[in-house]
Amino acid sequence: MSRLIFATGNQGKMREIRMIMEGTGYEILSMKEAGANIDAEENGETFEENALIKARAAAKLLPGDIVLADDSGLVVDALGGEPGIYSARYLGTETPYSVKNANIIERLEGVPDEKRTARFVCAIAAVLPDGREKVVRGVIEGRIGYAERGEHGFGYDPIFYVPELGCTTAEIPEEEKNEISHRGRALRLMREELSRL
Ligand code: IMP
Repeated sequence: MSRLIFATGNQGKMREIRMIMEGTGYEILSMKEAGANIDAEENGETFEENALIKARAAAKLLPGDIVLADDSGLVVDALGGEPGIYSARYLGTETPYSVKNANIIERLEGVPDEKRTARFVCAIAAVLPDGREKVVRGVIEGRIGYAERGEHGFGYDPIFYVPELGCTTAEIPEEEKNEISHRGRALRLMREELSRL
């Protein structure tokens, strides 16, 4: 059985990828389970570039496998696209999200609803054993709220309001979020790409 390795140490992401890639006929492993470890510098300028940087670095260590990596973040239109590819590093990696979220709300003070548009973006890159590369992007559109709402999710979820849902992505359970999330969408697009190989 061919192996599909996801370059992440994040258990939540692994759970989601296993759920979505189930039935594709690949053995799905994290980097750690595959016995590899990378520390690639994410110095690209786009989500796609950063995902590729990580996937290429991991692929060097795992030449016979299909290697996947992702990069994601929150893009806020009224902030010129910030925090974007710097979402994890915004205001410092160790800074609690309650502080980051409060800061974004504060920076949007006086900005009306229709200009509070934002999206979560997730790029997933695959490097194949023959050197071919595939990149996909999944997006979920929403708006920045006026206060944190919800206890589920992580990161910027409590301030990411999705009009169609009538709530933030922190107010819905994980499985429901996976159905509509940027990462869920990107994973399903990647599943299609891999099924065409
Ligand atoms: P990554 O794990 O390097 O892709 O970093 C993604 C960062 O973007 C996270 O640390 C969060 O700050 C933010 N982010 C990405 N996806 C989500 C999400 O689904 N909810 C909340 N924040 C997210």
